Amino acid sequence: MTCSDPVALRSLLTREAADLGFSALSVSRPQLAQASAQLARWVAAGHHGEMDYLAKNTALRADPAQLWPGTTCLISVSLPYLPQSLLHMEANLANPARGYVARYALGQDYHRLMRRRLEALAQRTSLLWGPFSYRPFSDSAPLFEVEIAAQGGLGWRGKHTLLLQRQGSFFFLGELCCDLPLPADSPVTAHCGRCQACLDICPTAAIIAPYELDARRCIAYLTIEHFGPIPEPLRPLMGNRIYGCDDCQLVCPWNRFASPAVSALAFAPRKTLQEDALAQLMTWTSADFSERLAGSPIRRLGHERWLRNLAVALGNGPPTAAAWSALAHHREHSSALVREHVNWAWQRLLLSGNSPSPNESE
Ligand code: SF4
Repeated sequence: MTCSDPVALRSLLTREAADLGFSALSVSRPQLAQASAQLARWVAAGHHGEMDYLAKNTALRADPAQLWPGTTCLISVSLPYLPQSLLHMEANLANPARGYVARYALGQDYHRLMRRRLEALAQRTSLLWGPFSYRPFSDSAPLFEVEIAAQGGLGWRGKHTLLLQRQGSFFFLGELCCDLPLPADSPVTAHCGRCQACLDICPTAAIIAPYELDARRCIAYLTIEHFGPIPEPLRPLMGNRIYGCDDCQLVCPWNRFASPAVSALAFAPRKTLQEDALAQLMTWTSADFSERLAGSPIRRLGHERWLRNLAVALGNGPPTAAAWSALAHHREHSSALVREHVNWAWQRLLLSGNSPSPNESE
């Protein structure tokens, strides 16, 4: 069946997107001048930390047609990734012997899956409409993903700065830059109201005002994007979070309605990340790290920063024999970054009034 009416095509796209496992689809012809100015102010304030790429490619970011020539329209989609219940997540976070990994990173890296799905959506669209120019993106190019999705009504920007829907915020965003003559969808009303639970819960007070994040304090930034030593005053606030943080999403009332991942298999948590204690994870060699996290976004962190993050979590946990032993194993590590964090953790456990057994202190 072919279709020559853009309005009819728009409604067919919703059906095709749902069939491919996307929870929602929106169309926008975004105006990005205001978002560009806001980003420039945010960068000038230094809130982006070491993420210098956010200060670059400003012209591309402000005009998706420069990113993919001929772009007149953006199709945004959301792909839910929640692999388990909120109760399960809260139990994991509350167990100081285990490391907490942001739920999006528990399974396979989503980028390839998202691109494949977007490609399938584009193929189906060309069967309905005929050939058109498109390029799929997902967190892979200088695009104002949240702003573009919000302008098309895929959701609204929550005070935690993430895109939020009535079904919550545990989803990935993807886009097709294209030249289809589709009508733009309208933005939806924001429904944060007087709530500010995400600002109040943030362990490091990184949401400095509604809709404004200081990335330098954000645990996701500190554990994933940041390369050097984690600022000491922030370490005790990080608890057992070893890769990212979901606190602002966990507390959000809209996530009580979060839809589970349709692609449950792809986002199924790795057993080792769910079940192994922090002290066990600390025993992985560099080869173990690469092998056990093949296909995971965590692998991009590298073994050195993995150990850095684990050391902070161990220093915030109970002084068990396993914790002492895991730290003792790395006190003479070849990396100064690892040594410094391990020694910080060692001192923290000593301050708790406990001390290692003679074997562990050697
Ligand atoms: S926790 Fe409250 S303020 Fe924050 S994003 Fe959710 S609804 Fe909005």
